[in-house]
Amino acid sequence: MIPIRLPDDSPVEGAQITVGTDGVLRVGSMLTRDEFDTIERIRNSQYFLVRNDGGEMNETRPCQRCGAGRYPTKPHTYFTLMCVERPWRGIEDGLRLWLKAAGPSERKSTLLRGLDRGLQDYSKVHPTSAGHLAPAEKDSVAWYSMLAGTHIPITLEKARELARKIKDRRPQVFPPELAALLI
Ligand SMILES: [Zn+2]
Repeated sequence: MIPIRLPDDSPVEGAQITVGTDGVLRVGSMLTRDEFDTIERIRNSQYFLVRNDGGEMNETRPCQRCGAGRYPTKPHTYFTLMCVERPWRGIEDGLRLWLKAAGPSERKSTLLRGLDRGLQDYSKVHPTSAGHLAPAEKDSVAWYSMLAGTHIPITLEKARELARKIKDRRPQVFPPELAALLI
């Protein structure tokens, strides 16, 4: 066992580096690079569609492009890019969005602010929910991840077909995981 030390040479309590039977150095129960890469490869081999079902936010998202989902129109059934169902990979239970909830000192201006552009003013849209999520302590900040939609697996062929369709519509940004499908 090798104790972990900070730059000033003070030891870190409870954290140690062990050498596995394979000779690989391991920090506590953290994954090695190889283990991490293997899990990533498996995760990235499966593509999904994400249902625009509201997830934990209980609210479907309108399309930024065509406006589908704004009253009185119906939203797209799945999350889309260029109004085409967008394949995703590397997700576990659905698409998650990160939210930042600020404490009372910041409540006046920004009670809860999402990193995703569509959620930036969550406190104005959902003041009650935002209020529940904000930490009570002054000056503190809490981070949350919320499910924006649940996912369903699709075949690689289907993902490829959709990626091609999206590309044909010439999006400004073509995500790398979709480009990878067309190589
Ligand atoms: Zn649309």
